[in-house]
Amino acid sequence: MTVGEAGGRAKELAENLAALRVRLAAACDRAGRDVAEITVIAVTKTWPASDVRLLADLGLTDIGENRDAEAAPKAAECADLPLTWHFVGQLQSRKCRSVVRYADFVHSVDRPHLVRVLAAEARKAGRVITGLVQVNFDPEGGTSPPSGAPRGGIRPGGAVALADEVASEDSLRLGGVMAVAPLGAPPREAFEKLAEIAAEVRARHPGATIISAGMTGDLEEAIEAGATHVRIGTALLGARRPFVR
Ligand SMILES: *Cc1c(COP(=O)(O)O)cnc(C)c1O
Repeated sequence: MTVGEAGGRAKELAENLAALRVRLAAACDRAGRDVAEITVIAVTKTWPASDVRLLADLGLTDIGENRDAEAAPKAAECADLPLTWHFVGQLQSRKCRSVVRYADFVHSVDRPHLVRVLAAEARKAGRVITGLVQVNFDPEGGTSPPSGAPRGGIRPGGAVALADEVASEDSLRLGGVMAVAPLGAPPREAFEKLAEIAAEVRARHPGATIISAGMTGDLEEAIEAGATHVRIGTALLGARRPFVR
């Protein structure tokens, strides 16, 4: 990359961040909330480590990724930066050993077996990982998007018990809950249900204050429903190129 290109990208990211801040402020205004309550996680999947660096220069140090194969080398390339890494994608048990090395937060804890493996790997690595219970609000039955990829998350009825399991592990800290809006349904209802589950979890575990909800398309609804963490890719970095496996 030439100096000119790097400068252009820095300017683009700064402009995107400024526009995002306007959206966040307006959403908080409408919801009667303080924008300081909202943590922006920049989801940098498909974008290079150089963009992570530029975001850090802009003060965005919470970075989200959804695939270990991409996140691990990117985190290594940025090891000199004071970043907090959030793993937000579906997590296979066999990837836990790698993920616990760089991730501070795992937003996609969605089954008891994953709790046990994540806890064991964190313990071995001498780390404490903050886990969020991901809740799946997709309609029962057809849960596969057109790509055929399965969608993560535990059904709402199982979320509190899974949160208890996370809290019981000494190498995990229960952070709260996370959700992605359901496919083909307005996000508001799901985010409101997520907030109810979050309250139930918080009543049992007062430290579990995080509600991770809201992406580029639905951050307003998420903030209105009480989200504390929004996960933003497109609005900050631009449209991702189609993903080819
Ligand atoms: C990609 C991704 C995001 C960001 O999505 P945008 O719509 O680009 O803002 C947020 N959360 C998860 C789990 C993602 O995979």
